[in-house]
Amino acid sequence: MQLPSQLLENAVAEFAKLPGIGKKTALRLVLHLLKKDAPEVRHFGETITKMRDEIQFCQRCFNVSDAPICAICSNTTGRNQLLICVVENIRDVIAIEATQQFNGTYHVLGGIISPLDGIGPEQLNIETLIERVKTEATTEILFALNPNIQGDTTIFYIQRKLGNLPCTVTTIARGISFGGELEYADEMTLARSIANRLPVQQYVK
Ligand SMILES: [Zn+2]
Repeated sequence: MQLPSQLLENAVAEFAKLPGIGKKTALRLVLHLLKKDAPEVRHFGETITKMRDEIQFCQRCFNVSDAPICAICSNTTGRNQLLICVVENIRDVIAIEATQQFNGTYHVLGGIISPLDGIGPEQLNIETLIERVKTEATTEILFALNPNIQGDTTIFYIQRKLGNLPCTVTTIARGISFGGELEYADEMTLARSIANRLPVQQYVK
């Protein structure tokens, strides 16, 4: 695609780097911005830059946050701080929060154990989870990982690391098809699988 302006071309190239955005869509978005007032486009750019520069990760659960400790971890009256839902990434937190059926806290692993992709437990927020359970007297860990081999491996590994800590370990029920992605599950299915959670001993066979 030959464009009549290098500036336009550069902007299109940046948009086309985003997931799911091809060159044609990128051009459409850029031309749309070009029709807007300059202050509006400046605000658009500044919002993105500010988000990237200022966003933090909660020091306790690794969820995105505007403060060192996130709003969920800070809410000691509305959220059960002794219940930890372990998820792979921030998109899973957003999906579960959308169900409005979970009142505990989270722990974002930042990935999942996957030896084939070279991802081992040391690259994930697993040690911090074990420390958290030990120091905070957690009563329940609910695994909400994608139901696939990597998810099962990760649960098995963490469960072994937990050893004999007096803490109930559960996993979301399998309303989500095997290999299905948590974030794409509809809210009802996800809410149901949280409500019908199972003890892990019964689940890992
Ligand atoms: Zn937090």
